[in-house]
Amino acid sequence: MSMAVHQASKEEEFLRKLFSGFYTSCQLGVSKPQQREFGFGGWEKKIEFRHIGVKGEAELRARLVSDAPLYVSYSVAYYEFPAARPMVKKNWLGADLVFDLDAPAHSCGKFTCGQCLAQVKRETIQLVEEFLVPDFGFSQSEISVNFSGSRGYHVHVVSDAVEQLDREARREIADYITGTGLQFDKLFWEEGKKLFGPRPSQGGFGGKFARSFLARLEDGSFALSISRSLKDPAIRQKMRRAIEEGNWDPIGIANRKKKFQEKFSSMMLSLSGRIDSNVTADTSKLIRMPGSLHGGSGLLAKKVSMAGLEKFHPMEDAIAFSSGEAKVKMGEPVPRFSVKGEEFGPFEAGETRELPLAAAVYLLCKKAAVLE
Ligand SMILES: [Zn+2]
Repeated sequence: MSMAVHQASKEEEFLRKLFSGFYTSCQLGVSKPQQREFGFGGWEKKIEFRHIGVKGEAELRARLVSDAPLYVSYSVAYYEFPAARPMVKKNWLGADLVFDLDAPAHSCGKFTCGQCLAQVKRETIQLVEEFLVPDFGFSQSEISVNFSGSRGYHVHVVSDAVEQLDREARREIADYITGTGLQFDKLFWEEGKKLFGPRPSQGGFGGKFARSFLARLEDGSFALSISRSLKDPAIRQKMRRAIEEGNWDPIGIANRKKKFQEKFSSMMLSLSGRIDSNVTADTSKLIRMPGSLHGGSGLLAKKVSMAGLEKFHPMEDAIAFSSGEAKVKMGEPVPRFSVKGEEFGPFEAGETRELPLAAAVYLLCKKAAVLE
């Protein structure tokens, strides 16, 4: 590896040594490594070298141990010649379908807080349970989820049914999930005094909206924001029965279109999550390799089963280094954070601390501290 122009800092060398050691014995489990393009990153850039090909898992491991990249990406695509360039010479054979979900922009910034991580986890579960399984018919065994190592989750669909999809088809799938171009007027229509709309039993977005609307109807303030008369349980029951038949206004609601449109807009936003459509549409995307370390956090881009996702907490379950300590000096104020249930901080800039290795690595990777 050519590092001639780059003078590695003490911190970078320390982390690369640790990462190299980690890769000597970690589980890899990358499917078809010989058909994927790999990208390695360092202290300055998440992808410094790409067009890397390997003959199989043993060679991949040997490269990870010797090059000790701080970031490892692999192509969602399979190629006949993954190391060839330009791209067209790789001979694209197919690609997994991937979804990239990121935590919301929030004041926690680079020290992503627990609430942000919990929210993006909820949205990941929703993507799988509300869309990929019921609407697209993928089985749980075709879907694999991993923590991104930083602020979100990646969902990989590995299936013959998606492998050959081109950019446009992938974009359509992403647009469907994000509700892009979805219009209230296409799902609701008036006939005289009546307002018709989707039934909860129907597929697609209409059914999702109707089901989530009915689920919220028992919430008092939600019901009252539609009509005062919904205070009466008998009227709510009448409303519920009618919507089950696709009749959305059996009680004469004032300003009904405007009210339903508002509910529709706000619910769609939360149903559609926060997926990055450009990632899904990119058939030659390099994405964090599941099972690799993330150089911006030192956390593991750990695979998580759907059954285990609810209880998965990155700062407990994606910790790669479980023994040892390191002494670090804060380069900036560090908010309170926890590693494996142990709380650290807040620290002031200039403070020096001996910390468990995982906590020290976290701060070094965030470039919030230096070795002391
Ligand atoms: Zn936050």
